[in-house]
Amino acid sequence: MTRLRRGALPLLVAGLLTIPLGAGAEPAGTESSWHSGMRMAMGTLWTVEARGPRAEQLVDRGFAEVRRLDALLSTYKADSELSALNRGAGGTAVRLSAETWDLLRRARDHAARSDGAFDPTVGSLMKAWGFKGMDYRLPDRASLEAARARVGYRLLVLEPDHRARLSRAGVEVDLGAIAKGYAVDRALEVMRSGGALSGRVDAGGNQGVFGQPPSGEAWQFGIRHPARADTVLGTLHLASGGISTSGDAERGFWKDGVRYGHIVDPRTGWPARGCLSVTVVGPTAEVADALSTTLYVQGPTLGKHHLEAYSGYSALWVLPGADALSWRVERSAGFPAVRGLGSEGGGT
Ligand code: AMP
Ligand code: MG
Repeated sequence: MTRLRRGALPLLVAGLLTIPLGAGAEPAGTESSWHSGMRMAMGTLWTVEARGPRAEQLVDRGFAEVRRLDALLSTYKADSELSALNRGAGGTAVRLSAETWDLLRRARDHAARSDGAFDPTVGSLMKAWGFKGMDYRLPDRASLEAARARVGYRLLVLEPDHRARLSRAGVEVDLGAIAKGYAVDRALEVMRSGGALSGRVDAGGNQGVFGQPPSGEAWQFGIRHPARADTVLGTLHLASGGISTSGDAERGFWKDGVRYGHIVDPRTGWPARGCLSVTVVGPTAEVADALSTTLYVQGPTLGKHHLEAYSGYSALWVLPGADALSWRVERSAGFPAVRGLGSEGGGT
């Protein structure tokens, strides 16, 4: 295990904690200068950085892309396309942009392929548990049943001409498990197409990279300790692609010694139990994002089977150990070597 010193390590933590890269920065304006910025978007802190000509402008373009998608996909913004779709639940179809419609289609595909472990219609459950708005509570049986009745990916009907509707009143689409990953990919893409030679986008649990890192051959990421934000269990290298971590550490509450995390099993209506975190790596941040949520709900046995259909993606589960402070890990075939990580450990 490694204790992090903030800012001291060129290490990117696959989880909430981010250590900004500093090493290797070159003066602005040179052919291959690095620029790095941090801003809030989609309810989280983003770090965007690029190397290339006019790196600062490239980073600005990355952030502009994230803001554009936030405006389209947020369920916290009343004028977003998703809010319009949700407001019309139970009524006629609304016309969406091709981009939003396509993302909904891919989200629905993840739902169908995972038999509903991933479900983009979890919005009413997120409200019932207070995960939306961070007003946490154990819902009573009646409100849980009412919320569950409004969840089900088949209630999201995608029609030709980029039209979509929610076929029951009160159904709410929530793309919180896939939209950040998509935005990471898009921000990287606008920087790449703008001339960036390397880039990194970090939205906490969702990150993506391409090109040469500021130092070394490959980008380095840390798998965060499930209980201690300042400690990593081990480190892994990625040349390019996405990495996503889902867990209950970032959003959730304790009640009577039980942790209730923000990833729900849509079929029971209860927060998914059994995993501390799941980290997925693969070619795109979007699919890694959707998969880390799915595999958190599924757990390692079903999850490894599910992953077989996703070429190039692999996962590492951090699971509870024998007592409250210990953990163990399981990984699917192909997960990169994690330096410093044993198969289990204690939490002291
Ligand atoms: P992530 O951090 O990517 O695992 O996404 C978690 C977020 O996705 C939650 O805060 C909810 O907005 C939403 N969500 C929760 N449970 C599910 C689920 N089973 N399927 C899809 N989205 C979910
Ligand atoms: Mg996700």
